[in-house]
Amino acid sequence: MLQLHDGQCGLCVHFGEQHPHDTKLVQIRSSHKAPETLVDNCAHPKHAPLHLKVTPSSGCDGFEPVRAD
Ligand code: SF4
Repeated sequence: MLQLHDGQCGLCVHFGEQHPHDTKLVQIRSSHKAPETLVDNCAHPKHAPLHLKVTPSSGCDGFEPVRAD
């Protein structure tokens, strides 16, 4: 498992934004831990048209923190 920190995709509102209530995402947000192999869509308005896929440990300046609930 990866330990996540602020600024990384796994804790960003745009990571898997199309399915925010996915159990896996909810667990990542509450535990700040994510499986190494997970990949999901980034729905940031600048990335979505490119269908960018990121891992929970990726990141960019478009980071916006997601609420843990
Ligand atoms: S690439 Fe940037 S905007 Fe997209 S999920 Fe990661 S931190 Fe958020």
